[in-house]
Amino acid sequence: MLRAVAQPAPATVPAAGQPVVDVRNVGKVYQNGTLALSDVTLQLHAGEFVTLLGPSGCGKSTVLRIVAGLGKPSSGSVAVDGQEPEAARRRGHEMAFVFQDPTLLPWLTVRKNTELPLKLRGVGRKERERLASSAIRLVGLTGFEQAYPRELSGGMKMRVSIARALAQEPKVLLMDEPFGALDEITRQRLNEDLLDMWQAAQWTVLFVTHNVFEAAYLSTRIVVMSSRPGRIVADIPVDAPYPRPPEFRSSPGFGALVSAVVQFLRDA
Ligand code: ADP
Ligand code: MG
Repeated sequence: MLRAVAQPAPATVPAAGQPVVDVRNVGKVYQNGTLALSDVTLQLHAGEFVTLLGPSGCGKSTVLRIVAGLGKPSSGSVAVDGQEPEAARRRGHEMAFVFQDPTLLPWLTVRKNTELPLKLRGVGRKERERLASSAIRLVGLTGFEQAYPRELSGGMKMRVSIARALAQEPKVLLMDEPFGALDEITRQRLNEDLLDMWQAAQWTVLFVTHNVFEAAYLSTRIVVMSSRPGRIVADIPVDAPYPRPPEFRSSPGFGALVSAVVQFLRDA
């Protein structure tokens, strides 16, 4: 049975050890004066699958970019595995990310696209091949290594984009609405496969979506944001066991969780 416990934010969830992702009192004002984030505090511990959920424009991508080291906070601090995010990103095996647009290079095969970040980091050919093969197998694209992006469906392109991130063997995986452009059935299948991979590899995942059902299906914890300025309004642990079969989506517990989360979104 699934239990959703909501508590006021910012949540201080007592958990053992150093957080892997540590966002403290982060504010962000863009150069044009847009106040995008106000006092965002968020900690992820090893192995958590945390979803950042909120309406369009509430600052989800801003949080993710700051955690990725692609943008600086205007106030507050961010650490990934105790380091500056930029340092963690440059090392690659600390942190990898997947965006909504798969951003594949059209002139490279599935294999070469998957290997690219490793190549840029100077990883040798043999090791690149090993890591890419393993990642391509994980995302279910074995047999398509020599295909070009134009030969693939939207779902398959996203699988390549995920393989490219996984080939870096990241500890932390950042995903910004990765399945937002896919049809519902493809999205559900990718959600299921992603959970299988996460259970096997034990990454710490920060996943952005505006889809309540996706958040409820995937997460160990759902962090709800509201807009203007972007801030955290609820931190909801999802107490449902893994593996979560597709039928989980039609269970009463799932329905109760979705209702609770929707209520927070409305109140925000
Ligand atoms: P979300 O990902 O939740 O849709 P974003 O983080 O992309 O939200 O954006 C949060 C707010 O910051 C929005 O109002 C958006 O218009 C604004 N914003 C995002 N990026 C920039 C930028 N580079 N310059 C100015 N404003 C921005
Ligand atoms: Mg966004």
